[in-house]
Amino acid sequence: MKNVIIIGSGIGGLIAGNLLAERGHKVTIFEGHSRPGGYTAGFYRKGYYFESGTLSFEASASVFKAMKDIGVFDQIDFVKQRIRLVSDNFDGTPENYEEYKKIIYTGFLSEKEKLDTVFSELDKMIDLMGNMDEPMPFLHSGLKMFESMLPYILSAPKQMQLSKQYGNMTTSEFAAKYFEKGSELFQLFSGFGYPDMPALFAGAGLSGMFTDYWTVKDGMQSWADILAENFGKLGGDLKLSSYVDKIITKNGAAVGVSCKNNIYNADYVISAGDYKKTFLKLLDDQSLIPQALRDNLAGAAVSEGFCTVYLGLNMSNQELGQYMQVPHVFIHDHKPGYNIYDSQDEEFFSKTSVSLYSPSMINPKHAPAGKSSLMLQTIVPYHWMNNWGGGDREVYGQLKEKAMEAMIDSASRLIPGLQEYIDYKDAATPLTYERFTHNTDGASSAWSWNPRKKFYKNVMSVNVETPVKNLYIGSCWAMQIGGVPGALAAAYLCVRKIK
Ligand SMILES: Cc1cc2nc3c(=O)[nH]c(=O)nc-3n(C[C@H](O)[C@H](O)[C@H](O)COP(=O)(O)OP(=O)(O)OC[C@H]3O[C@@H](n4cnc5c(N)ncnc54)[C@H](O)[C@@H]3O)c2cc1C
Repeated sequence: MKNVIIIGSGIGGLIAGNLLAERGHKVTIFEGHSRPGGYTAGFYRKGYYFESGTLSFEASASVFKAMKDIGVFDQIDFVKQRIRLVSDNFDGTPENYEEYKKIIYTGFLSEKEKLDTVFSELDKMIDLMGNMDEPMPFLHSGLKMFESMLPYILSAPKQMQLSKQYGNMTTSEFAAKYFEKGSELFQLFSGFGYPDMPALFAGAGLSGMFTDYWTVKDGMQSWADILAENFGKLGGDLKLSSYVDKIITKNGAAVGVSCKNNIYNADYVISAGDYKKTFLKLLDDQSLIPQALRDNLAGAAVSEGFCTVYLGLNMSNQELGQYMQVPHVFIHDHKPGYNIYDSQDEEFFSKTSVSLYSPSMINPKHAPAGKSSLMLQTIVPYHWMNNWGGGDREVYGQLKEKAMEAMIDSASRLIPGLQEYIDYKDAATPLTYERFTHNTDGASSAWSWNPRKKFYKNVMSVNVETPVKNLYIGSCWAMQIGGVPGALAAAYLCVRKIK
């Protein structure tokens, strides 16, 4: 039995904690916040439930396998999401990638030839994605792991060819090959997913978005709570409101942590939170970090943060449903002048697209009787307006209000008179996300998705090892593009390291 400390109770920390406790190790999870969940959490205000940020996840085969391995799958009501896409030229709720193509073709009849070429390239990417109904190989061990890697090994030559062609090409460069910059189709194909992510991911993203997009009926917080409860039953100790301020090392190895002036010893420490802070802030001995890594770390680009508006509405689910049709709607309408890299554009929020999501349409319990809940989200430029007012609380409040109003205005396109129905209103900015999860700049999914700003050489690798012996990374930051699948893969690999 080993004594293991996990820093952070996001999905990565909770999965690692459960798997390790189940194997008989003594595990303590330290969580800075008063509730478990990290980015997969939620909260109630005035009787309305909102997801903190993460609305859904993909890679369900892996997530479901993990929940079955832990033994909680039957306790969680996972529901598949459908996404409606709306723009000036189309409006549809595709069930799969083929239906998505039809919607786009119908919306842009005169662009058929160009669309044929674009989709034939995306088709190739999708064909090579492998069987998405199978869990990631990382989740297996021994022969089963080898078996599940076989399809990837066999398709490796084709993968490499496609990767050479599209792995370093950004979605903007891909879109610009076919469509005039600024046109709606340029915006559609370049604006998919994270800004300037590798074109190679566009295929995977598009096919997963319509067929493998899931949420939890009782909310993300219920998922985290179930995992936390199970961890407790297995003998694990979850310490909430317990921020770890130091990772303690001895002779180059992690031997414990310090929290609220107490020292806790461990054979292993798993950092299941932010990567940069693990090394630049928490590690007690900076000399353990090789100079090259230290140089790289501070400036390494992280994924963009989100702004989320939380609205409680004096409107029934039924009425909201007449406008929304399904709980999740993406509006594509980047207006002229939209530039995700312009941090000083005060009008950014009136130019960006917003997505709408109603937790109460997923589960009516998420709002008081006769009312509904709605979330609006958009990706925002890094450090918008001098990082949201340069530390001045009053300016921060004004900027947040301005962002909220612009996003509500955009959403009014789908829900006329939205403003009049608002019963509760608040918002989270990247600063809020950083405050609650300690993720640098509110990075929403680990490192930058831009292939020119890679932190890891291989974007699909899972890197749990660190220069410090017995210190592992058990969060989404172990993978370039993070996400729930990244955190999951990291958790499994950490567990394998602890014998
Ligand atoms: C708006 C938004 C939308 C998203 N959409 C998707 C999506 O559709 N699909 C998808 O796969 N992913 C999505 N993601 C990303 C995904 O949610 C995260 O990548 C994943 O949940 C991260 O899990 P994690 O366990 O690695 O870390 P986190 O969830 O970041 O958890 C880290 C935890 O560690 C704690 N912590 C950190 N430092 C300390 C410390 N020193 N002491 C104690 N505790 C500490 C934090 O408080 C936090 O609870 C989204 C994220 C956001 C913000």
